[in-house]
Amino acid sequence: MTIILANLPYEKDALEPHISAKTMSFHYGKHHNAYVTNLNKLIEGTDLANETLEDIIKKTANNAEKAGIFNNAAQVWNHTFYWHSMMPNGGGLPTGAIAEKINVDFGGYDNFIEQLKNTGLTQFGSGWAWLVLKNNKLELMATSNADTPIAHGLKPLLTVDVWEHAYYLDYQNGRGNYLDAFLHNLVNWEFVNSNLV
Ligand code: MN
Repeated sequence: MTIILANLPYEKDALEPHISAKTMSFHYGKHHNAYVTNLNKLIEGTDLANETLEDIIKKTANNAEKAGIFNNAAQVWNHTFYWHSMMPNGGGLPTGAIAEKINVDFGGYDNFIEQLKNTGLTQFGSGWAWLVLKNNKLELMATSNADTPIAHGLKPLLTVDVWEHAYYLDYQNGRGNYLDAFLHNLVNWEFVNSNLV
């Protein structure tokens, strides 16, 4: 099947002033779109052309010869998950089942956001910060470059892109300011809850 660029769940200017329409235009329209285009070129005429995106990721993980396919496929998947991890007027205190689980597994919301921010800040270079479910317990993790929890058998609940292309136009080198905006104004807790079930 041809891998398609999923629609954004909101307009490009919907996350302003926290993420500008200009950032969305480049990040979604250029970067995400390029991963889709590159992936389709790389799998054309191969056995992987008939696989789902998730299966392409799982079948090429940890295979040095397939690193180009893995990187593009994982970036396609990660970005779609990231767009849905955000919403206009999001962020702040969690709602629903995830709220209680954060209290149990992190000892409260304040500890949780401090640790998630730190996970994003300490990822050296390009990558992603994630909230995942492991053995029914919440955990934070960072992945480098295109790497993704679904390649490690983990269930992602929330992600934030910490590649410079995600924040440089709006925050320059201020990754911490971008992470603050994500946590306080953008997190889509309904999406997190929908991934928990
Ligand atoms: Mn990105």
